[in-house]
Amino acid sequence: MPRCMLCSSVAAVKVPYLGGHLCSTHFSQYFERRFLETLERLDMVRRGERVAVAVSGGKDSLTLLYLFSRYRRALGVELVAVAVDEGIKGYREYKLEAAKEYAEKWGVELVIKSFKRAFGFTLDEAVAALMRGGLRYKPCTLCGVLRRYLLNAAALELEADKLATAHNMDDEAQAFLMNMVRANLKALSREGPVSGKVHEKLVPRIKPLYFAPEREVTAYALIQGIESPPVECPYIAYSTRHIIRRWLNRVELGDRSVKYRVLALKELLKEALGGGVEEFKTCKVCGMPSSGDVCKACSLVAYVRPLLTNLFNE
Ligand code: SF4
Ligand code: ZN
Repeated sequence: MPRCMLCSSVAAVKVPYLGGHLCSTHFSQYFERRFLETLERLDMVRRGERVAVAVSGGKDSLTLLYLFSRYRRALGVELVAVAVDEGIKGYREYKLEAAKEYAEKWGVELVIKSFKRAFGFTLDEAVAALMRGGLRYKPCTLCGVLRRYLLNAAALELEADKLATAHNMDDEAQAFLMNMVRANLKALSREGPVSGKVHEKLVPRIKPLYFAPEREVTAYALIQGIESPPVECPYIAYSTRHIIRRWLNRVELGDRSVKYRVLALKELLKEALGGGVEEFKTCKVCGMPSSGDVCKACSLVAYVRPLLTNLFNE
């Protein structure tokens, strides 16, 4: 039976790049230290700041909320949690229930924004309309753009200094490969662990779990007793990320460090492309940050609304 390399107790987690196993206590200490060091080394939060933590109700975001709630005093930050209800029946309501329970347990106010209230339709309604229009946009495209938009709007409304998301190393490696297969050069070098204040209405984003492999986040959540309902989004079958995720995990079986190298390549490309700082304009429709004259959220909503009107009028 494997033993912890620090105290010889029964091992809980294998950490190959440290050269052995750790017991649950030492692994938790190691995981928490990396979270705190990432915050400090990259100057992610400062004392007195208000941090909005984006929670979906999945294990990663619940873990992030737990870590922040546990260390909020030591960090000197004020916390608020923000969630988005896209309106995905049989999925999101369960995840949001978990987010509510844990936020209450850890004493963090939770603010929930919904697609229905903000845009006038749920994701389920939009997807039904999109299907009839030939699915020009995939559910995840719509979901991702509108969710990011609402999270930023909520963080702005709450006067947060930072918006923290739970993206881990696997998410980042997947995102990089997705941008590669889409030949999206601009996005390839964007989205590091910290984004600066590039627009007055864009709350700077931080990713404190950026250097944590997904399996370690899962192990930590398990050790801390953090549970997320085992439901899967019904639109996952349309997700390119899901295909890349499975592929990358298969490659990792024979090459333990592949995800680190993907992220290292991202850093090299970022340097070669001149830092990856994106220029933002202001959306003519809603006044929020945008890469073009009209932001992606407004363009998508403008595309979906007439489809919905047609659907309801039939
Ligand atoms: Fe949204 Fe796609 Fe994730 Fe479902 S799988 S929650 S549609 S991004
Ligand atoms: Zn807009």
